[in-house]
Amino acid sequence: MGRRADLPASQAQSVSQSVMSWWLFAVAALTIAGPSLAKKSRVPAFRLNEDVVPLHYHVTLVPKRDCTFSGTVAIQLDVRNSTDELRFNSRELSIDPSSVALSSLKNDGEEVDIVQLEKDLGESNYNLDEGYKNLTLDFPGREFVTVAVGEPLQSPGRYLLYMAFNGTMNSRRTLGLYCTGTRHRNRTSRWFAASAFEPNLASTAFPCWDEPGFKAKFTISLAHDNQTVTLSNMPLKESKPYDDGEDEGWRLDTFHTTPKMAPYLIGIMVSENIAHLDSKLTRGRKVSIWGHPSRVQYGDLPMRLANRHMEFLEEYTSFNDPMPKQDMLTVRNYIAGGLENWGIVSYDEKLVLFDPRYRRNKQVVLRASNLIAHELSHIWFGNLVTPKWWDDIWLSEGFSSYFAALSTSKVYPVWGHETTSWIQARENSMEADARDTTHPLRPDVSPGSGFKEVFDQIIYHKGQSIVRMLNFTIGEEALKEGLRSYLKERAFSTASHEHLWNSLEKAARKQGSLPGNITLSEVMDGWMNLRGYPVVSVNRDYQTGEVTISQRSILDKEDETSPAREETGGGWWIPLTFTYDGENGTSTTTRFWLDPSETNTTITDPAPSDRWLLFNLHGAGYYRVRYDRENAGYLLNDLSDLWLDDRVQVVSDMVELARLGFSPVADAMKAMSWLKDEISPYPWLALLGSAHKTLSLFKGTELEDMFTEFMNEILSAGMNRVEDDDPHKKQLVALSCEIGVKKCTEMAKENFKKWGEDPSFKIPDDVRGSVYCYGVANGDSKTWQLVNSRFATTTDMKDKKDLLKALSCTKDPKLLSKYLSWAMEPSKGGPGLKKTSIMFKALAKRDPDMLLSALVSKGTAFKRRNLRWKRLLEHVAVEVNNEQQLNKLKAVLTSGKDEFKSELGSSALIRLAESNVDWLEKNMGETKAWLQLHKKSVKV
Ligand SMILES: [Zn+2]
Repeated sequence: MGRRADLPASQAQSVSQSVMSWWLFAVAALTIAGPSLAKKSRVPAFRLNEDVVPLHYHVTLVPKRDCTFSGTVAIQLDVRNSTDELRFNSRELSIDPSSVALSSLKNDGEEVDIVQLEKDLGESNYNLDEGYKNLTLDFPGREFVTVAVGEPLQSPGRYLLYMAFNGTMNSRRTLGLYCTGTRHRNRTSRWFAASAFEPNLASTAFPCWDEPGFKAKFTISLAHDNQTVTLSNMPLKESKPYDDGEDEGWRLDTFHTTPKMAPYLIGIMVSENIAHLDSKLTRGRKVSIWGHPSRVQYGDLPMRLANRHMEFLEEYTSFNDPMPKQDMLTVRNYIAGGLENWGIVSYDEKLVLFDPRYRRNKQVVLRASNLIAHELSHIWFGNLVTPKWWDDIWLSEGFSSYFAALSTSKVYPVWGHETTSWIQARENSMEADARDTTHPLRPDVSPGSGFKEVFDQIIYHKGQSIVRMLNFTIGEEALKEGLRSYLKERAFSTASHEHLWNSLEKAARKQGSLPGNITLSEVMDGWMNLRGYPVVSVNRDYQTGEVTISQRSILDKEDETSPAREETGGGWWIPLTFTYDGENGTSTTTRFWLDPSETNTTITDPAPSDRWLLFNLHGAGYYRVRYDRENAGYLLNDLSDLWLDDRVQVVSDMVELARLGFSPVADAMKAMSWLKDEISPYPWLALLGSAHKTLSLFKGTELEDMFTEFMNEILSAGMNRVEDDDPHKKQLVALSCEIGVKKCTEMAKENFKKWGEDPSFKIPDDVRGSVYCYGVANGDSKTWQLVNSRFATTTDMKDKKDLLKALSCTKDPKLLSKYLSWAMEPSKGGPGLKKTSIMFKALAKRDPDMLLSALVSKGTAFKRRNLRWKRLLEHVAVEVNNEQQLNKLKAVLTSGKDEFKSELGSSALIRLAESNVDWLEKNMGETKAWLQLHKKSVKV
């Protein structure tokens, strides 16, 4: 699943009581519960200890139409270390103290029927012979409950804990235990309650050991009225009448017991007016899709895709999904694209149940296929084998992202999809990884330092890129064999990265694809634990034939000659591959390893001195290469002769390394201008992001017009060639319309006019944002009002986002300052606090100066209102490009009361902005000279 968020630790106190994001509670609990628990814990205060572990839960939930719920839970516990207290998670639940009962179980080692046991416990009024008395409950924070037991629980020993509780469902977001449809009284509304628990919101629905490492079996019972149907992870076992004390006709549905799994994967649904389609039984399992009766008819394609992905993934992993059924639950305006609840995966409705008309658009089908494959890959990576703690979550998300692309390329083979996927993963993660605000692939996941880092570009896209690198380095066969044994060994249990390295290493040794003197664990250490990525410098001596190779971190901005290693904490084991102009064959087998402890390595005569030398074939390694000028020149002259993947990595490295101050601007400009003749969409896909960022660097400087003119010439060529299915179309159109490429603005003008006259006119998704922005920028206040009113009424959340962003495109200063006040003071009108991030990012791009001035005057109130103010300020820090703006940013960061004085992240934001200013100072002259020369050559 995917989402981004963050939280400054200093502001946990101001979190509202509602069910919001989980990390908020995590921090609140740390500050309140921490000290009182310190005496007992051998683990950090925000973690649970392993003295007592749950084996089996029976959870009964009674969700009501007013979005409240009640429930009971019986948990069979295994005591590993004698203890006099039970500590578990309960977030925002109210537990009835008189209901809490604890009994010891005589059959220590045996599997028990937990539903039967719970009944015995209930019927005997919780006073079994073995029952504990005088239990006291303590709520040391909103995260935890501690039950003091009196006499210690024996180890080894089995116990049964029972509790009754109630709570409120989330009616604002599809997060936690949520319910929708209560506010609308029109005919199409329906009542719908379901769950989205990842990463730790299961404990907002029932008290539990809510960490991924505490895997257990679950038996789920759901009570519901006769207008509704239920679903959960497993198939229905029995349905009986249920007396809720008020209404007639209620039933209690109990589902079969799940395999051992993490609590965050529990899925439940109670809904009225929901329809489903079933596929034929395939390999003993039924796939069904559930959704709104008006949409579910479009479910045949997603079901077919799901079946084929399951087939591919079961074959690859050599491990069949243990779930007897696979439901695809579609949800309107879902919190994420999808969520991998085992046996009942949730999807955002419009991403999978789209009108068959759109099947002609390959990008739409690819997006659905990729999403379905990603969620289904989690069956193996996350569900079957679960990372023990969130710091290894890349084992779930990185692998699922990798297999989403691989499986899609087999199941829905559209030429180039794997290429698109690796380019996007590489460019997205390298962009984030080159910023001072980045974090390692294995982040420090604790409330103070970064729960926010659990689901971001680094985890998903760097994770995917690292798996791709492994696939090339140890070989496809070794990766497959190693993964098969990793899954077999760790199935129904947890894993850390070390388990993975052990399995992969054995397989790699068998294939002979790893040198004898290093372990895979050593090789991967830098890739796991260092921030940033390596820049490999290749310097040739054309007289002697010697080539000197060295590495340096992208975060190390100092001069090459200065000692680089201390700040970034060492280096990487880098698998190097290379070829030269005229060499036969281009094997991606590692030719040698660059050792992190050596400053540089020399190779002799790898290529004739008048030919180019090319490293990192197919961009397989997660690093960028900087060549000496002469070799860069050879490569630039020969770009069209390179294999596509190599063309992509060469130009992308040249342009990005120049933008980050590592290599000469002239080479980057030449690489960019070459795009004009490039007919493949992939180099465009790789370069458009860099081009956009370079354009913002020049904003407001004397080079803005010259660079815009240069880009116009390139993008016009691109716009003439782009086709509807091209993966780079959205980015190309966004940049082209922004700088006024004629073909783009004509398209936008026409579409905006039609949309203005007819609200039901559908602008294609991939150009919609650009069309709105063009319309607002070239319209008057009436146009702005029209867009604003459509923003207020549309129910499509992605459309809403595009409309809101477009409102910032206005050239009317009065309207822009109105927009600014919406972002700065949401209580005084506008779309509200939750939309601040969208508006803030739009404003930072549109007019960073204006935004910074507003922040300087109202910064303290702004920070108090926005828990995520540092993330918001990152949007403006990346746009800063002069001293005045830099000073304003510094003033904003250091202003305010003590509560904002935490240095965490502030210095990184300042460095981010400073690097832009420094870059311009160093490179303006060279860029100007190049552009002038280019202009002349074009005229000639
Ligand atoms: Zn995922």
